Amino acid sequence: MFVVMSSVASEAEVLGVKSRILAEGLTPYEHVGSNGIVLAVVGEVAGRRDQLMGQLATMSGVERVTPISKPFKLTSREFHPEDSVIRILDAAVGDGSLTVMAGPCSVESRDQLMETALAVRAAGATVLRGGAFKPRTSPYSFQGLGVEALRYLAEAREETGMPVVTEVMEPNQVDIVAEYADILQIGARNMQNYSLLNAAGRVARPILLKRGFGATIEELLMAAEYIVAAGNPNVILCERGIRTFETYTRNTMDLAAVPLLHHLTHLPVIVDPSHATGKRWLVKPLALGGVAVGADGVMVEVHPDPDSALSDAEQQLDLNAFAALMRDLVPVHEHVRDLHNDPLVVPPASAPAGGDLARH
Ligand code: PEP
Ligand code: MN
Repeated sequence: MFVVMSSVASEAEVLGVKSRILAEGLTPYEHVGSNGIVLAVVGEVAGRRDQLMGQLATMSGVERVTPISKPFKLTSREFHPEDSVIRILDAAVGDGSLTVMAGPCSVESRDQLMETALAVRAAGATVLRGGAFKPRTSPYSFQGLGVEALRYLAEAREETGMPVVTEVMEPNQVDIVAEYADILQIGARNMQNYSLLNAAGRVARPILLKRGFGATIEELLMAAEYIVAAGNPNVILCERGIRTFETYTRNTMDLAAVPLLHHLTHLPVIVDPSHATGKRWLVKPLALGGVAVGADGVMVEVHPDPDSALSDAEQQLDLNAFAALMRDLVPVHEHVRDLHNDPLVVPPASAPAGGDLARH
């Protein structure tokens, strides 16, 4: 449930409500929005919901108490109606600008990373990506350079000024990755690794959370909820394709997820057409499509010589192809950025949001 405080509620009244919630063994999360303070009451309330709602509603300074039907609370639009904007060095994600995270699938050497970093920055990328710890399907494939790659990423940030994003695979890697990287990525294979999500919730770095291959939109939001509930509100969601019966593409990019997520949550949403399609020539059309449906940005794999890449060779763009993609992507973003505030595009608040649609 949410407790909406009156716009003239005093600090003491807000504290009184918070103490009451804490006394019930529940946690109050505060959001100061344009209409005043809303407190989300988080915890297991099952049997005492009606009674507690009644008690909180009569407390001084409380305007109303509303139940919330969805299982995600802190990540929901109802709790936090304004878009979340996540700031990292000079970059901002979710503020209406186009975020472009680009770089190699894996950091393979200092030279490979530096050449890519300078080229993607010149073409307009805003964040440098590069895998240091790689989650590979085969234990015999290249597993990443680990800490050595983290050092190159930090060096590339110094050189280019771009913040860097890289994947963290285990809770005990969170501190070392956070020491070098500006954004920590949780990959598709780890979207429901709850100890990793909790550890990500305790670190002072934004998290890029990728959708699992078999995860529903609600499961993605519940995974984000773990991170936010553990204390880290800075989560960026990433649609990177889900597994379907289709075999021509590596995954199936769920474009509807982008406007749906924007409807359900205040968190920024980017798309990754590289892992979604697995094919170089499909990256550009799907990047354009993702931005056209309102994504706050894209993540694209770029390599100076994709054919020689140690991982995901078939889907990485070379430096020229990335520059060409940027030339087409920027005007699409300029064109659509205002369309998404159109009342014909934004569904009414009462529209069915998910999970409740009949399956055919
Ligand atoms: C990646 O971005 O390097 C990656 C492994 O992606 P995903 O987790 O989406 O497969
Ligand atoms: Mn990859």
